[in-house]
Amino acid sequence: MEVKRCIRCGNFVMSGDDLCINCSNKDKLEIQKLKNYFEDNENTYTIGELSANTGISEKNLTRYMGNQEFASYLNPDTSNFNQMGNF
Ligand SMILES: [Zn+2]
Repeated sequence: MEVKRCIRCGNFVMSGDDLCINCSNKDKLEIQKLKNYFEDNENTYTIGELSANTGISEKNLTRYMGNQEFASYLNPDTSNFNQMGNF
């Protein structure tokens, strides 16, 4: 069986998942929060703005915003999304 580390907390994950059970649940809650936010605020945002508005960390937001369903809400001009790899 493949042993990986959880991409959120670093714990070992004994499955093909990227996240442990704890973090998987946290992700679900935050993604739901993000969906609710976008339903109420249809606009485009930078990762920094979203983090300030939702309380979700920039690191996690960067992961969520890579999702196709959120792509249209990401501000392409001011986003640091494509530069995150340099940090
Ligand atoms: Zn975890």
